[in-house]
Amino acid sequence: MEDCIFCKIVNREIDSNIIYEDDLVVAFPDINPQAPVHILIVPKVHLSNLLEINEENKYIVGHSYIVAKEIAKMYNIDKKGYRIVSNCGNDGGQTVNHIHFHLLGGRFMTWPPG
Ligand code: AMP
Ligand code: ZN
Repeated sequence: MEDCIFCKIVNREIDSNIIYEDDLVVAFPDINPQAPVHILIVPKVHLSNLLEINEENKYIVGHSYIVAKEIAKMYNIDKKGYRIVSNCGNDGGQTVNHIHFHLLGGRFMTWPPG
């Protein structure tokens, strides 16, 4: 997808500190971290957001959650707890139109979010 910053990271056209990669996803630290651990898990396929999940591609979402669990272990936040967030659309606070999952941890997460 042209002009998609996350596609460019996936394709190595933009530098990022990729901490995990497999056939389906990459993961790298958020440039503007909201918690001591803030990793983005980004499917390699360009889906705009949660609205594009369907019966054919839903395995990518489950896979992303399994990867998040493994990364939580890597950063030693699995036992204390963590949060996964996927912002969808304007009211959801989405700013990058390529589906991604925020893995947040290392501090207590308040609820509800603002
Ligand atoms: P969202 O606002 O939910 O769409 O999340 C997009 C996230 O991408 C934000 O938290 C940004 O800080 C982050 N972000 C944008 N550009 C980059 C980049 N080049 N490298 C790492 N994180 C980025
Ligand atoms: Zn993209």
